[in-house]
Amino acid sequence: METFLKDKTGVVLGVANKRSLAWACAKSMADAGMRLAFTYLGDRLEKTVRDLAAEIPNSIVLPCDVTKPEEVTELFEKLKEEFGYLDTVLHAIAFAKREELQGDFYHTTKEGYMLAHEVSAYSLTEVTRAALPLMEGREGSIVTLSYIGADRVVPGYNVMGIAKAALEASVRYLAADLGPQGIRVNAISAGPVRTLSASGVKDFSKRIDEVAARTALRRNVTAEEVGDACLFLSGPHSRGITGTVLFVDAGFHIMG
Ligand code: NAP
Repeated sequence: METFLKDKTGVVLGVANKRSLAWACAKSMADAGMRLAFTYLGDRLEKTVRDLAAEIPNSIVLPCDVTKPEEVTELFEKLKEEFGYLDTVLHAIAFAKREELQGDFYHTTKEGYMLAHEVSAYSLTEVTRAALPLMEGREGSIVTLSYIGADRVVPGYNVMGIAKAALEASVRYLAADLGPQGIRVNAISAGPVRTLSASGVKDFSKRIDEVAARTALRRNVTAEEVGDACLFLSGPHSRGITGTVLFVDAGFHIMG
């Protein structure tokens, strides 16, 4: 077992179940020795997240709905008490109303637009700001998850594509802000993986099969491959990388 993240701590936002990309990222980081905190959204998910976290030695579980500023504040207060410091923040959350993820993009409502941006893009800045006091002097890393729908029109991705573009721009601005403190901020643009959120995108199952045939590797990526990229970005091997979007998509983005 690798232990190069021994004595490092991280908080993982976005585990809904064992298929979540956040869970694969967490397992990779925990296997390298990182101590983890998991957050859950609302009582409905608490048991699932607690059951999964029980597989990760020494981990803790705390509530956090990013649309509730008091829960974000309390999360980092609790992390200060429990861990004292923080090396990694994994932001793996996104949300849009199901009806916004089908049909024409121009039907997007203002309410749906704002909600998608609040949860999927703004929350990175909010969480980063709250994490900063715990990351002081640690040369830590903040990682978020994006999708190629930020760069290209993906049918059905609609408002989430706009939110991911805002998320990726936030990565660059945050990286420039936090670089002088030695804190890095990066995104992984993951290829499609069957998860709960992904099932909300219309025709996702059809698309995932089509994408597999069109990638350079002629297959889709696995959650574990995304997890290992997260391990790389959260640890010392990526110490010269910040403000970037790393494609973990089996080479889909290079194909014409
Ligand atoms: P997932 O397992 O459904 O994870 C999404 C997480 O976001 C869930 O835990 C969800 O909780 C949480 N969330 C939603 N609203 C929230 C809020 N207000 N506060 C806190 N958490 C909230 O799906 P996933 O595919 O692993 O998604 C993780 C990230 O990867 C997302 O940013 C997604 O856009 C990105 N991504 C996914 C793919 C893919 O193909 N799966 C590809 C590229 C990028 P609930 O389940 O309770 O809503």
